[in-house]
Amino acid sequence: MTDNHGRVINYLRLAVTDRCNLRCFYCMPEEGINWLQRKELMTNDELLRICSIAVNMGIEKIRITGGEPFVRKGIMPFIADLSRLHGLKELTITTNGVLTAPLVPELKKMGIRSVNLSLDTLDRNRFFAITHRDEMPAVMATMDALLHHGIDVKINAVVMEGKNTHDIVPLVALTKDLPVSVRFIEEMPFNGGGDHYTVLHWDHLKILETIKDCFPLIEKMEDPMFSTSYNYHIPGHKGTVGIIAAYTRSFCGTCNRLRITPQGVLKTCLYDDGVLNVSDMVRNGGSDDAIARALVNAVSHRPQDGWEAERNRHSQKGVHESMAAIGG
Ligand code: SAM
Ligand code: SF4
Repeated sequence: MTDNHGRVINYLRLAVTDRCNLRCFYCMPEEGINWLQRKELMTNDELLRICSIAVNMGIEKIRITGGEPFVRKGIMPFIADLSRLHGLKELTITTNGVLTAPLVPELKKMGIRSVNLSLDTLDRNRFFAITHRDEMPAVMATMDALLHHGIDVKINAVVMEGKNTHDIVPLVALTKDLPVSVRFIEEMPFNGGGDHYTVLHWDHLKILETIKDCFPLIEKMEDPMFSTSYNYHIPGHKGTVGIIAAYTRSFCGTCNRLRITPQGVLKTCLYDDGVLNVSDMVRNGGSDDAIARALVNAVSHRPQDGWEAERNRHSQKGVHESMAAIGG
């Protein structure tokens, strides 16, 4: 699949639920969001069918995300089914790690080679202040289990003024002895309508300067194709550091991804508000061919970048929904 700007589309991010067992400050209000009804969520069979069609059309990598994927009932058999899709080269997961540790051996057996783990701080009190749940030990257990089983770990840390900027240096220091990739993410306004977000205090440049002050020998690495992060390495460290300019949107030019929301809506850009209701097509008896044609049509009308997608939104101008309703 190639979009109308010549970009090859081979990556699908599949949000399997909007529900979550944490309440991260930057993602949703403490009281949660208006959760989808069970019947609004696609069933495992429906998801599998859509993924199978997408893989037949050239999707090579699928990332399972949410909400928190592991709060969805039946998620492990679903991941196992996905892992068997012929033509799928890479299956990855983004998780908050609260429920994940005991599942790691099974995930390894299913062929999961890489997991993104959200961890914004190494301080238990600050973890509680950010997520409203005292679950940091469970997340650390997941990191240990992943490393123990030889699964690549990318740590995602959203940088928030007044919340975790003191954690930037300790998180970078983790890369000294652990082969993890710590990625700092600019905070985006996808917070479920909470009104705490006004301007971006910590952009990628400020994050890098803060790291350089402590680690002056840090070196720029070559960024892999389609990478959303600027990547760095500190000589002598086992792991690497990434900075994702998510708010600044500097990665749109090479974007190769599609998203499917928990209720089965296709997004061809993080900033659009949905361009195709795949769930309706599936539930109204759409054939595989018809769904494939609709996907091709959506991909051939992709916006150039997030700014254009945001201008084209049908609903209220400006993004405000929770990242849990999109998948990040
Ligand atoms: N619950 C899982 C987790 O937290 O890893 C997966 C879903 S979460 C929505 C996916 C990613 O989006 C996480 O790494 C999280 O840090 C990121 N995220 C959520 N809200 C964000 C925001 N407002 N700005 C930047 N990143 C955000
Ligand atoms: Fe839940 Fe992930 Fe959102 Fe945090 S970022 S509230 S863990 S969905």
